Amino acid sequence: MTIKDNVEKVKDIVNKAAEKSGRNPEDIIILAASKTQPVEKIIQAYNAGIRYFGENRVQEGMKKIDQLKNYTDIHWHLIGGLQTNKAKYAVRYFEMIHSLDRKQLADEIDKRAGKIGKKQDVLIEVNVGEEESKYGVKPSELKELFEYSLKKENINILGLMCIPPYIEDKEKSRPYFVLLRKLKENLQKEFGVTLPHLSMGMSHDFDVAVEEGATIVRIGTAIFGEREAP
Ligand SMILES: *Cc1c(COP(=O)(O)O)cnc(C)c1O
Repeated sequence: MTIKDNVEKVKDIVNKAAEKSGRNPEDIIILAASKTQPVEKIIQAYNAGIRYFGENRVQEGMKKIDQLKNYTDIHWHLIGGLQTNKAKYAVRYFEMIHSLDRKQLADEIDKRAGKIGKKQDVLIEVNVGEEESKYGVKPSELKELFEYSLKKENINILGLMCIPPYIEDKEKSRPYFVLLRKLKENLQKEFGVTLPHLSMGMSHDFDVAVEEGATIVRIGTAIFGEREAP
């Protein structure tokens, strides 16, 4: 299977899941999670029609973004956890940051975006499984962080993101996707805002995520194949 074959297969699965749940497949962005992948493979995915790429580490992402700067229609997203001291670079390089999860980071993104005259698009990452090892704000603390970040002049909150606990049976991911959707609906109601995005679903469970309302699915191995150990 080539990367092009893989992309076709992913598109097909997205289309079927959208159809099954009465959604328009065009409302769903397939974002290729390109961590550890060389630029040659990113170009192959680009040639297969992918325009959204997600990197996990700021430094690694910056390097690839610089190397691929002629591909001006690529949308680069930061999908990995963000250290406060890297916010400055993240804001310069990435169109969207999926991993806002604490007030201190909101302060820093706001400050750094302000300095370059940008309004930074972000998603708030929610630790839906309340796992010790994961990034993300706890569901019980989401409202407070949302309200805090909403007041920041240079931050534009577009929705929520989650990485549920890994469970082989993808049906077991469904309750976490439902939770994220409900959290988003509650925020919309409570604050009278529209949050267009739910970033959820990875290679093994993105069809379920689409059925539950995902607007961005983040796909690594199903597009690029197994990652080499870093
Ligand atoms: C690696 C990664 C993905 C994609 O994972 P796959 O299982 O390879 O599809 C999605 N989201 C984040 C945040 C990741 O780090």
